[in-house]
Amino acid sequence: MRILLVEDEQRLADALEYILKKNKFAVDVAFDGITGQDMAESGIYDLIILDRMLPGKEGVTILRELRAKGIKSAVIFLTARDTIANKVEGLDAGADDYLIKPFSTEELLARIRALGRRSQSSLLGDKIIIGALTLDPLRCEAAYGNETVKLTIKEAQLLELLMRNHGQVLTKEQILDRIWGFDNEVDVNCVEIYIYYLRRKLDPQKCKVRIDTIRGIGYCLNGG
Ligand code: CA
Repeated sequence: MRILLVEDEQRLADALEYILKKNKFAVDVAFDGITGQDMAESGIYDLIILDRMLPGKEGVTILRELRAKGIKSAVIFLTARDTIANKVEGLDAGADDYLIKPFSTEELLARIRALGRRSQSSLLGDKIIIGALTLDPLRCEAAYGNETVKLTIKEAQLLELLMRNHGQVLTKEQILDRIWGFDNEVDVNCVEIYIYYLRRKLDPQKCKVRIDTIRGIGYCLNGG
């Protein structure tokens, strides 16, 4: 796995670089937003660890521009801010995960492994088909009729979970556990936000499946 670390705090950057290399990752480091974005736009990174507050250009802006340019690298956001609004802004900009500073290196490594497992299982290339809806986890793409819809990694994970449990009710807590696992900072609001994103991307008329809300409990993928 090739990782780009964009972090302006030299000591933290050095420590992370050392730990990541020790764990057999290939790591490049940028210390400001402009350089970081230039490197990220090469598209060669599997994962970008992106600080939010950076000289030159701030993290959310960089992330938005990367996603707009079609860069699909997984992104873990590093942020010192921990309000819901800031989390949503980061996720909305296309982050797959985020860590609140200060964080433990174990936690960072666990999240990198989780994202890695995700892309590895995706490499199997198993498509999941229900009704007119096909999910390609490798490409993070959903297709129905003549339409192909790009999904973020989290959206694809959520849709995969719902499709693999077709017709069964999943509680919000189950979804939270399965998709965000060890992230104590994320709560069920996040599940609601991502369900909203998915519904916005999947037209139930054309997919022939829909995500039903089970009031007070959770969600269920029905139809097909
Ligand atoms: Ca910073």
